[in-house]
This record gives sequence, C-alpha cells and structure tokens, in this order.
Amino acid sequence: MKIDLKQLKLQPQQSEHYSFVEFWPDELVRGLGAQFAEPVQVDIEVVFTGQTYVGTGKVKSKLVLACSRCLEPSVIQVAEELGITMIDAGSRKPEEFKDDVLVVDQGEADIEPAVIEAIFAVIPLSPLCNSECQGLCPGCGVNKNVEACRCSEENIDPRWEALKKLTQEGGEQIGRS
Ligand SMILES: [Zn+2]
Ligand SMILES: [Zn+2]
Repeated sequence: MKIDLKQLKLQPQQSEHYSFVEFWPDELVRGLGAQFAEPVQVDIEVVFTGQTYVGTGKVKSKLVLACSRCLEPSVIQVAEELGITMIDAGSRKPEEFKDDVLVVDQGEADIEPAVIEAIFAVIPLSPLCNSECQGLCPGCGVNKNVEACRCSEENIDPRWEALKKLTQEGGEQIGRS
C-alpha cells in the first residue's frame, strides 16, 4: 500500500488523492481471532506543507469474529478515520509531532502499518454477535439465542451443579475468557 509523493512534493499546499482496494490475507488478523469478509478500502488525501506530508482519510472493511458468548460468527464493520504524517527520509522530525511519523523513502511511503493499526483498533477483545446475546448455557451448552434451555427450571442443589460441571469438563465449550 505505497503512495507516490514525488509529484506532490513539487507542489506544496496542493493535495492529492489516493485510493486502494486490496484483499488482505487473514493471517494478519488471525491472531485476534478475526477474518476479512471484505477487501480493505483506503481513501486518503495528502497535502505537502513544505515540511511534512499530512494525510487524512478513511479505512473501510468488514471483519468476521466469533462471538465471545455464543461463538457464532459476528460481523464487525471497520470505518475508521486515518491520520498519517509523513516526512522525507533524512529530514528532521518536527518537534511538534509527538506521534509516529512515516518515513518517505525515495518519494514513496508505505501506509500499510498505519492502516493495520487503525483496523486493529476496532477489533474488540470480547466481540458480541449482538449486545443482547444470551450466550451458551454453561450447564447444557445450548445456544440460548436459538434454543430455550431447561437447566434453570430444574432446581439443582449448587453442590450438585459444581459436580456436574466437573464431569462435563472437556467436552463443552464455555466460551472465550
Ligand atoms: Zn453471540
Ligand atoms: Zn442449559
């Protein structure tokens, strides 16, 4: 995801628009339990101030994650603002910039790391298919969004309940912690 800034450098205060639509490999987000359901779309407008290249834009995509309660696929829309500051290699980072700046190497900047960061920022630690998700019953394992479970109807002695859980361990899914 490289942008060519050579033309822009010759025209300070002018802006240029760049857009990308790329299919990204799932490996990038697999560590977070996610998969891409759509290509990554980036639109960015860059202005050269004479010292820095200031890019503002948007990243869009769609991810699929397992719901942390019921384990069914849940869809996460990515629609994040992008703010990327770039400087030419070898030039001094202006003091007012505390944030990271991308280095422009031979007139080109690779904005991919900034886009990945923006996508990671929206991936929830405990994704939900829906805020009302009832999850899986810890007793019988049914998806309570789909089926009514009868565990709560039986009046179980809590000591028996603990024993029952022990004997069921291994086979049932309790969900991600
Ligand atoms: Zn769910
Ligand atoms: Zn149950």
